[in-house]
Amino acid sequence: MEKMIKQTLIGRFVQEVINNSSYTQLDEYYLYNRVLNILANHDEKLSANESLDFLGLVNKLLEPFSDKTSNELECIRTELMNFIVPVPSEINNKFWEKYQVSVDAALEYLYHISQKSNYIKVEDNKKNEYFKYDSKYGELEITINLAKPEKDPKDIAKLKSLATTNTYPECQLCFENEGYEGRADFPAKTNHRIVRFNLEDEVWGLQYSPYAYFNEHCIFVDSIHQPMKINQETFRRLLAIINTFPVYFAGSNADLPIVGGSILNHEHFQGGRHTFAMARAKARYKFKFAGFTGIDAEILHWPMSVIRIRGAKQDQLVELATKILDKWKMYSDESVDVRSESNGEEHHTITPIARKKGNIFEMDLVLRDNQTSLQYPDGIFHPHQDVQNIKKENIGLIEVMGLAILPPRLKRELADIKDFLIGNNNSVAKKHATWVKKIQESHEKITSENVDGIIKEEVGRTFTRVLEDAGVFKNDENGNAAFKRFIEFVGINEKEVIK
Ligand SMILES: [Zn+2]
Repeated sequence: MEKMIKQTLIGRFVQEVINNSSYTQLDEYYLYNRVLNILANHDEKLSANESLDFLGLVNKLLEPFSDKTSNELECIRTELMNFIVPVPSEINNKFWEKYQVSVDAALEYLYHISQKSNYIKVEDNKKNEYFKYDSKYGELEITINLAKPEKDPKDIAKLKSLATTNTYPECQLCFENEGYEGRADFPAKTNHRIVRFNLEDEVWGLQYSPYAYFNEHCIFVDSIHQPMKINQETFRRLLAIINTFPVYFAGSNADLPIVGGSILNHEHFQGGRHTFAMARAKARYKFKFAGFTGIDAEILHWPMSVIRIRGAKQDQLVELATKILDKWKMYSDESVDVRSESNGEEHHTITPIARKKGNIFEMDLVLRDNQTSLQYPDGIFHPHQDVQNIKKENIGLIEVMGLAILPPRLKRELADIKDFLIGNNNSVAKKHATWVKKIQESHEKITSENVDGIIKEEVGRTFTRVLEDAGVFKNDENGNAAFKRFIEFVGINEKEVIK
């Protein structure tokens, strides 16, 4: 019996599970039968010298089910992957045990399991295109996001016939997702695990992002389903998080539409181990806020409007960040189109980012304004129409820091544009026409050798403009003077301005 099992695909899978989990050889038949059941009794003889990694093996097991939709297959794939993932209580115990040794050891443990079990879509994430652009603000990063698979038409068809009254799990960030099998309109989460941690008197969770945009892209999630809100609590929580996980940065999307992220209904932050261009940005202006002599402050040389504050004392930083937020919420400057509210609707908020360097806490406060106007119906401080061929989505936390996440459509469209520029194609999509004309005018000779570089450079240049559009105080004489008026409104210590 034993020999027969080992020579089949499921037998091979069972051995992999035993090698990568706390299951032992004694569990072999049990595991075989569990998997046989999930796969509706489909098993095959293993062809000789077939070398497959774990994900490859799982995908091979799914081959007989080609009639199923992508989403249904993903549910089964995730259920199989779950065999190598310890249960939540065990993951949490091990994580905090390792944390006693080092933060890195604990994070590596969770990160490794999340990758090995395909919770982090390692193979899919490799599909993303990535390049750098040397802007006047530093080296920006550009990704074209190709990892998320396009929706299967069969799944879309199923969705139509599905009652939309399902409210469990309440949202994709709720803790109740842990182990959830998934359905046509909800991703499979069987292999999902959350590490709980105490954030002062609250319970929060740490998990990784399946579709990572940078190294160890993680999410810090509130155990309570409640809307995102930027206030004193946000600053307090962000600093507490980087105090617990000092090797990661932590930041929050803003809490207003147009300038916020895609999920506003469940409080969460993002973090990870990555140095963004904004973190390396130089100071344009150094000063101290009145009453906060222990805190260094700077206006950053950055396309968006950022105040950086730095100090050793968490409480002081929270107090100052809150003061800046409160002042910003009531601040208007007609000369630069900045208005705190109109028709009773508030327009101002902050995108905050926190880091810890040694014993020093650093916070970047990015001023946001979500007004729209007749001239800019999508947002005055949002990518303007002439750059929307490249980016028209919200400028969220990740972009603010200098990493562009561009939509998948651009892969095809940019390829078409390259063909057009070297004469292999007669036309380009209308929305790109003006952009392409400008490229032609600013480059003397475009050839198949240099076209790739030219396009990357122009996308980078356009992304720089996108960020400048999102900046409330522009990087010119007028804008810089207006920015200084705002920090004076908050209250600065005139004696300690370092010009
Ligand atoms: Zn939720």
